[in-house]
Order: sequence, then structure tokens, then C-alpha cells
Amino acid sequence: MLDNHLPKLLPYVPFSSWNRVAGGFFSRHGGRSRTPFAALNVSYGVGDDPSQVDSNRKLIKEALGLNCLVSARQVHGDEIAVIDTPVADDHEHSGFDALITNQPGVGIMIQQADCQAVVLYDSKKRVVANVHAGWRGSVANIVAKTIEEMNSQFGCEPSQIKAAISPSLGPCCAEFVNFAVELPESFHQFQITPNYFDFWAITRSQLQDAGVIPGNIQAAGVCTRCDHNYFSYRRTPSTGRCATVAALG
Ligand SMILES: [Zn+2]
Repeated sequence: MLDNHLPKLLPYVPFSSWNRVAGGFFSRHGGRSRTPFAALNVSYGVGDDPSQVDSNRKLIKEALGLNCLVSARQVHGDEIAVIDTPVADDHEHSGFDALITNQPGVGIMIQQADCQAVVLYDSKKRVVANVHAGWRGSVANIVAKTIEEMNSQFGCEPSQIKAAISPSLGPCCAEFVNFAVELPESFHQFQITPNYFDFWAITRSQLQDAGVIPGNIQAAGVCTRCDHNYFSYRRTPSTGRCATVAALG
């Protein structure tokens, strides 16, 4: 059973008012991992005990009532995995930074510590996507590429798509001293103070350029470096990864 209001075992923020989609932005609390990965680390790639990661992922599945959890070994690229056949077991794909599915009960998970997870949902076509967008993903505009893939694979119209941006590095902490070489000129308008950029606004802009209606975009507006309820790579380089999970009910 999937219900945004049922799972209270782990603290997380649900995607408000989204009909028949479960999931949310999980904090670092409620899991089994120990310092520096305490507690709800979902990454196998940061040095944590894999059995603790298994336990944490199981807790998330149970909390959301999911059949299985599909994730990706993210590489800050722009490859998109499409899951359009039934999945029986948990699986971690290699080399993808976005996941799309039309399969009910399959939780698609992005792992992040400062990067954005952007969840996309088309309630008409019943398709959900979860996108990992660090600054390299923003430069590659992986959000727009994922919307294009939703359209070409499943006929999703951008005007029907709702989007939710996870807690991530806020404009208060997104310092890019090498922005002149790292970020394209089109991003320079989002520099709010010298060397500091608003990547939430960049994602909003990319979503709108891709055809998403502004009223259908919500952002948590929480900076992971400032808010100690989340893992932050910029605050503590050796740390865990938080989960953002979405699943069709
Ligand atoms: Zn901050």
C-alpha cells in the first residue's frame, strides 16, 4: 500500500498534494549507520558498512511500502535509465544519473549530499522520474533531457509534469570560485553575490524552458550545508548520502 501520509517511521518530507505517488526527501535520521555515515546513509560508495546500507534501504522500502528499490551508481553524467518492465528485486544500475519508470511499486532512488534530486511526475500518463543534478548535471541540463525522454518514451507532455526539487546546496553556500570556466555564461545571471549561485533558480529556469508550468514546480528550499539534518559533502567530505525516493502507487 502506498500512501504519503502513512509512513512515519523515518522522517521525510513528502511531495505535497501529488495524487497516487509515494516518496519524499529523506533526512539523515532514522537509519542504522554509524558516524560519519549516521544514520540513514543509502550509498554503497562512501565507505560505509554495506550491511548497514542494506538495512537502511530496507527501512525505506518498508516505510513506503515498496516492492523494490532501483537506484543508480551516479557519475555526474546525463545518461537516463528507463525502467518499463516489472522489477522483482532491488537493483543498482551503473553509470546513470536519472531514472524513469511507469511501473507501480518500484521505488526509484537518487542519492545525494548537496546535489539536487529533482522528481518529475506525470499523473495522466502515470510516469515518474528522479534526476540527480549536481552542478555538472545542471550544466548538462539533465532535467530537460529527462523530460524529453519521458515525452519520447511515454508521451508525457511537459505541461502535465509536476516537479519537486530536493534539499540541496542553497544559494547561501553554492560558492564557485572557478565559475568562469565551470559554468556556462547563461548561468551567470543566477550569481546572487560574488561567486555564489542559485542552483534552485537555475533548475526552475531549466524546467520552465522545457515546458513545465511554474505553478507545477515546488522546491524544498532547504540548504543541506546549513541544515545539519542532511548529509553535506561541502560541510563534511567524508559523509553519507541522503535518499530521495519516488514510486507510483
Ligand atoms: Zn547554506
